[in-house]
Amino acid sequence: MQVKLEVLPKEERSDSATACWLCGRSFVVGTVACWAYGDDLDLGPVCPKCLEEGSDRVAERLAKQAHWSRCVAEQARQIAEEGISEMPTLEELRAMQANASR
Ligand SMILES: [Zn+2]
Repeated sequence: MQVKLEVLPKEERSDSATACWLCGRSFVVGTVACWAYGDDLDLGPVCPKCLEEGSDRVAERLAKQAHWSRCVAEQARQIAEEGISEMPTLEELRAMQANASR
């Protein structure tokens, strides 16, 4: 992946907030876009906080996120495989809430 700086043409500038492709933080791109590219892929904008962190720390954070995502995916796979043996219906929840608020 590469991250590049680009001066945006006036017609492409916006005051609207967007999500950083690397960390998800909301920020306004402004006049100079910092943009991530993969192999022939236009990935998305990168926020100033990620630039401040630097490439090594961002890569380290992404590796931790990837590990966490694999753990969550494995847990979801196990639950899906085992099935859910007990789960109330929405109507049961609403009936119990109505009784509890009397
Ligand atoms: Zn970011």
